[in-house]
Amino acid sequence: MAEEAKTQRDESLLYHPEHGCAALPEAERRAMEGYCEDYKRYLDAARTEREAVSEAIRLAEAKGFVPLTADTAFAPGSKVYWSNRGKALLLAVVGAEPLSAGAVVAAAHVDSPRLDLKQLPVYEDSELCYFKTHYYGGIKKYQWLTIPLALHGVVVRRDGAVVEVCIGEDPADPQFVITDLLPHLGADQMKKTLSEAIPGEGLNLLIGSVPDAAEGTDRVKYAVLKLLHEKYGVTEEDFLSAELCAVPALPTRDQGLDRSLIGGYGHDDRVCAYAELRAILELEKPRRTAVCILADKEETGSDGVTGMQSQAFEHFMDRLCRSQGVELDECFAASFCLSADVCNAFDPNFPEVSEKRNNARLNYGVGICKYTGARGKSGTNDASAETVGYLRKVFAENGVAWQMAELGKVDQGGGGTVAKYMANRNIETIDAGVPVLSMHAPYETVAKFDCYMTYKAVKALYLD
Ligand code: MN
Ligand code: MN
Repeated sequence: MAEEAKTQRDESLLYHPEHGCAALPEAERRAMEGYCEDYKRYLDAARTEREAVSEAIRLAEAKGFVPLTADTAFAPGSKVYWSNRGKALLLAVVGAEPLSAGAVVAAAHVDSPRLDLKQLPVYEDSELCYFKTHYYGGIKKYQWLTIPLALHGVVVRRDGAVVEVCIGEDPADPQFVITDLLPHLGADQMKKTLSEAIPGEGLNLLIGSVPDAAEGTDRVKYAVLKLLHEKYGVTEEDFLSAELCAVPALPTRDQGLDRSLIGGYGHDDRVCAYAELRAILELEKPRRTAVCILADKEETGSDGVTGMQSQAFEHFMDRLCRSQGVELDECFAASFCLSADVCNAFDPNFPEVSEKRNNARLNYGVGICKYTGARGKSGTNDASAETVGYLRKVFAENGVAWQMAELGKVDQGGGGTVAKYMANRNIETIDAGVPVLSMHAPYETVAKFDCYMTYKAVKALYLD
């Protein structure tokens, strides 16, 4: 009998994604830890889109960025920023090549799900005083009960003065809470579905319980308004022109015994916003002009003057293009955009919603999302094979760990990003970002390795 020839498998035929931290060189690990400490500080300072923008401006000015004005002169290496009404930010470092060669754009958003106060929010019931809220973005309402909440935002007084409000972050500050029913009396509530159990009009913040000494109705409410007037000079009518948000008062912390994870509020999408920001702040004179977008209103559909559907982006880019005598459409056609937004990480506690082979995992690097959308890829950008191939090449050349990502099983649900609004401008666009556990919860979880790799990914593209 002839002996059968022993054959060996050619492993290079198979795709073998690897856990990023298993063999991370020590120098890279230190760089990752340092980066993540800086990110944690940024996230703690950026609880709203306004704060994310003002903190980004502070960091940018320290690196020599100047506000864009009508007479800003541009030369290769010029660093400029433009604050879009304090709620969105555009930064650029002018490249050596003209804008006819296109810009390298990275677009993240800095708004996160939260509870906005209604315009007439203060009321008293049973000698307890409350703020009424209207939630912003996609939330699971039950998650926002019985957690400490802080109040951030601005009040525009009748005299035009803009008063900044921040209550609940300083350890000496009071905080706020939305109460829940005790389980002893929760039998009827527990029979309801998670989406029905807590009605939107039930998300009311408890803000006071002691009545004012003066005679009259609603004495607790009056006492609370007196306190607000003493501290901020505001009256009940001033709430009509206010933007106040209740956000989780939960500081950003390492998670896990091995400290490999970061827990915090608003990773979606400030984790990608910081990656972009950090990358552009480190540029000196890139080949192509680098543009960093920190957008607002993504969580409500990118509408509005500070959202990515706004012409504000054209306004900024046109200023740069005109300075070089380049047509805006010529620049867009040659540009590339990384829509840097988070994706969902595979969660072994909920395996049924994901298709394991194609879902992003923690610690496997930046997640490239070729398409988002719902059902038959409805509402998606769906980047081309060539664009995915371009990222593979740049990431391989620059030591960026990456993986493919998809938003859950087919027909399980869906979602979107700013990608389609960028692509609709005739800019080649693809989604990539940090995989997140518990996305849109008051406290989300990411892996440090993926945060760091997303920063490296954006920087590699800026420098390509
Ligand atoms: Mn997002
Ligand atoms: Mn989101």
